[in-house]
Amino acid sequence: MILYMKTQPYHVVRTSKIHGRGVFAARPIRKDIRVLEYTGPIISEKEADEVGISTDKDGHSHTMLFQVSKKRVINGNEGGDARYVNHGCDPNCETEQDGDQIFIKSLRAIKKGEELVYDYHLQVPGKITDKVKKEYACFCGSPKCRGTQIAESILAKQAKKDEKKKKKEEEKNQNKKKKAAEKDLKKKAKASDQADKKKKAKATDKAESKKKVKAGDKTDNKKKNKGKKKADSLSLMVDKKPATSKGKKKDTKKKDKKKKK
Ligand SMILES: [Zn+2]
Repeated sequence: MILYMKTQPYHVVRTSKIHGRGVFAARPIRKDIRVLEYTGPIISEKEADEVGISTDKDGHSHTMLFQVSKKRVINGNEGGDARYVNHGCDPNCETEQDGDQIFIKSLRAIKKGEELVYDYHLQVPGKITDKVKKEYACFCGSPKCRGTQIAESILAKQAKKDEKKKKKEEEKNQNKKKKAAEKDLKKKAKASDQADKKKKAKATDKAESKKKVKAGDKTDNKKKNKGKKKADSLSLMVDKKPATSKGKKKDTKKKDKKKKK
């Protein structure tokens, strides 16, 4: 019986609702069980680059390369069933490295017939655009699904970058607005300054013209006064008759002088 349990595999490969073929629990699996090994020849990173990524007719890319170290990659394309284990955002399995070996281990108790999934934590170089996310879209169907197989850490980094960029752009825009507002303010200030100057100029013009008018008035008045004085003196001369009396007096004086002589 124990022998039977040992030879009975934990998993079975069949069509998956998530994608293509998937790996399912052939029997109940306890937590922390190395369900299967991710096998395949170990190749260099450079060789892995040459293997590349296959893309299906829907534009979804698949990678069967499992990096075990900086320079060593397991080429799952030539490996066993583990390459069929799909990615899931709320996984029941995880990978465990033991030297150059990679195992797919149960994270919790798994019921018979459940599809085995682990988080690929997919490392994708370059900018993570919506297009790239779509290329590695996830269809795990979990309520926790993030929509892509790309590693959460990478998404977070990209999100941070995007936010930084957005902030920078916002700051730029704000600065632009600020500068524009300042320019506008300066313009307005200049305009109002000019208007003020014009007003002042007008006011001084007015004042000057008023002064001129006043001055004119004064001169007029002076003239008038002069005229008046003249007239007054004239009238005085005409009205009163001191001149005649004076003349008379003079005359009398003259007469007196004459008399004295
Ligand atoms: Zn998902």
